[in-house]
Amino acid sequence: MKIAMVSYEVYPFAKVGGLADVVGALPKYLEKQGMAVDIFMPYHKKVDENSSKFGYTIEKVSEGISIPHLLTEEKFDIYRTSLPGSKNVNVFLIANRYYFSADEVYQGPDLAEQAIFFSAAVLEAIKKLDFRYDIIHVNDWQTALIPVYLKSVYKNDEKLSKIASVLTIHNLGYQGIFEPSYMKFAGLPEYLFSIDGIEFYGNINFLKGGILFADVINTVSPTYAREIQTKEYGEKLDGVLRVRSADLYGILNGIDYEEYNPETDKRIYVNYNLETIEKKKENKRLLQRELGLPARDVPMIGMINRLVDQKGLDIMAEIMDYVSLFDIQFVLLGTGEEKYENMFKKLGERYPEKYSINLKFDVVLAQKIYAGADMFLMPSKYEPCGLGQMYSLRYGTIPIVRYTGGLADTVKEYNPETKEGNGFGFEPYDSAYLLKAIAKALYYYNEKEHWNALIKNAMTTDLSWDNSAKEYVKLYQRAKSKIQ
Ligand code: ADP
Repeated sequence: MKIAMVSYEVYPFAKVGGLADVVGALPKYLEKQGMAVDIFMPYHKKVDENSSKFGYTIEKVSEGISIPHLLTEEKFDIYRTSLPGSKNVNVFLIANRYYFSADEVYQGPDLAEQAIFFSAAVLEAIKKLDFRYDIIHVNDWQTALIPVYLKSVYKNDEKLSKIASVLTIHNLGYQGIFEPSYMKFAGLPEYLFSIDGIEFYGNINFLKGGILFADVINTVSPTYAREIQTKEYGEKLDGVLRVRSADLYGILNGIDYEEYNPETDKRIYVNYNLETIEKKKENKRLLQRELGLPARDVPMIGMINRLVDQKGLDIMAEIMDYVSLFDIQFVLLGTGEEKYENMFKKLGERYPEKYSINLKFDVVLAQKIYAGADMFLMPSKYEPCGLGQMYSLRYGTIPIVRYTGGLADTVKEYNPETKEGNGFGFEPYDSAYLLKAIAKALYYYNEKEHWNALIKNAMTTDLSWDNSAKEYVKLYQRAKSKIQ
């Protein structure tokens, strides 16, 4: 099967969050399953910035392509590079100066127009290049209009109409809701502005379009796939998702075992594996030195996150005074909402011996924290899959999580009797339960026999992409069978 994977972010070309990691890794594992995969992404400024660092070269393939059904004269060019570490994955970059010259991935003069332009451009690029794909696999709202286009504007297109579409929802919290006037810009037929189309409370909703028109839909963990069909997690799309429930699947993300391997990771201070686990302590010591924390053998809790409501920071705010009473060190790496940045900044100023607050985006420091910390905190309100807990498991850093979405599918509560389980957690979204889970983890940190069992269970948890890639192949087969 030949797959076109479409995403706004792809590691290492341009990364904002977990989506980039997924689209940067999955194609390599699909190749192992015999799939032929190409990637389509916008030619962001970041793609050039990262080229020397990651050693890829970019060539021009085609230029001056216009999109007949859009209300714009803007044209696009196609460039090509390859996915590092893959055998044969082409990465096609859609270039347009007006829409894609911002410093950041999710920036531009008009985000709705930008997503429409990109989605339509990908389909026009496939026509221009004359590629025959079986599947077009789109990700999140920015690319969710592609299935809508396939089932409307391009319904009778000789080259495109036989392509099945798969939509992966990486986070239902971001839907792409805009004024109805964009229908015209997009060249979409008026009948689509309806309850069983992309209309949404008087506006248009790109993700809703993808959910209704993709042949198959999935999200990034089985638990999240169930949760989003409920009112509590459905973000007002639970009804629409229930309509598609027969075609809605949950496939857990994997992690890139080569990129994230404590034995070979060049970004960490000292490499280690389960047999040489005592070297993990050396990572902690050197991290303390780098961050200016006292070099003491106290439990270190790491946290690497976008600082937004989704990540459970409001319940953290309620208990930080109590957490400060424990003899611990707490290392935060993250950027986001000002109220949370200020909350952490204040804690750092008040307890400089306990808190290291790093309000920046730094992938190297992130690895040093995954390797150096003893515990990793992720009390998310909701979490489609979550990568942080998976990286920390791989590096023998024990996760403390709220059991929701992918966190519930990857972290299992430690049972001291059977010595099974790889972390600690809680279910009710309530700060008292969070505090209890932290206290429990700190207790077991001092019970060396149990802590060693936890580290062993964590580091041997299977989080590889191999299983998930097989699930995606099945998903593609299901989507394909809907077209014939
Ligand atoms: P989300 O996709 O909701 O942001 P995930 O846990 O799925 O959350 O993925 C987050 C990814 O981004 C992880 O790889 C994490 O290490 C990384 N990350 C988040 N914030 C930072 C930061 N400030 N610096 C470096 N890496 C970060």
